[in-house]
Amino acid sequence: MTRPQFTRSVATGPLLIADDLVKHYKSRDGHGIARAVDGVSLTLKRGETLGIVGESGCGKSTLARLILRLIEPTSGRIGFDGEDVMALKPSRLRRLRRDMQIVFQDPYASLDPRMTIGQIIAEPLDIHGLGTAAEKRRKVEDLLLMVGLDRSALQRYPHEFSGGQRQRIGIARAIALEPKLLILDEPVSALDVSIQSQILNLLIDLKARLNLSYIFISHDLSVVEHVSDRVLVMYLGRIVEEGTATQVLRQPRHPYTEALVSAVPGARAGGRIVLKGDPPSPEAVPEGCRFHPRCPKVLDICRTTPPPAIGSAGGARVECHLFS
Ligand code: SF4
Repeated sequence: MTRPQFTRSVATGPLLIADDLVKHYKSRDGHGIARAVDGVSLTLKRGETLGIVGESGCGKSTLARLILRLIEPTSGRIGFDGEDVMALKPSRLRRLRRDMQIVFQDPYASLDPRMTIGQIIAEPLDIHGLGTAAEKRRKVEDLLLMVGLDRSALQRYPHEFSGGQRQRIGIARAIALEPKLLILDEPVSALDVSIQSQILNLLIDLKARLNLSYIFISHDLSVVEHVSDRVLVMYLGRIVEEGTATQVLRQPRHPYTEALVSAVPGARAGGRIVLKGDPPSPEAVPEGCRFHPRCPKVLDICRTTPPPAIGSAGGARVECHLFS
């Protein structure tokens, strides 16, 4: 496979490239390994929203933390904005951290209850030493307005706000440093359905206004389809299907994606495909195709031989023997 070049034109190349990323941990008993992320490659174009779906434990949140370099990969490379992230000096890496921010699932846990909203949103500016006190105050007020709140929030504390308002505050903090990439890790999963669409619309609006690119992680396929240009499906640390949101979520090919899509209410004429059992542990990844113990279409070859990734000219990709 040709290795991706990270030095191509900054203006026209992809914003993010992950090349064969691996994150293995020692297993809990200390004798084996847990394959949390096991050879993931992806590309994020500028201005794109890339959805990542899969059941909990599939590795999608670990992948997000690898991209942000909150954890170090076991192997693999990450390119961001034309630079090889793994080769950056600490000072450059610090600058790069400004360009990549994350919004977490739980707006209750992600805001420090002892800090005022003004302090919370200004904190990234403080950490990076940006602006005078007056400039920071103006900036925080602008950010509050941008996310649909007003300056009356400045001196108040997180417990005084609803879940949706707290997520707006989390988003304001994440965009304070004017990043290029936002990783949204289940950003609406903890919210009431009625509030979810307000936050999704805010994210869509901010993306256009601020020229952002998003990685949108969720187990909720309807939400992912609403916001994503392309979608990756993860199972036990690997990407098993990739394509446009329409390709993957309207015409799924991989049996795992078919099962996920069939569980969306009203999504499938043929009814719901119920998978056997839970996903195996990353400490006990099955031989052959890692989905084979649960696959309704399993072939003999699937039990012994990992399927190759089959790509098409349109950029769709599926990892399944049915298509090889
Ligand atoms: Fe199912 Fe085999 Fe395809 Fe795996 S490779 S998803 S077991 S048909």
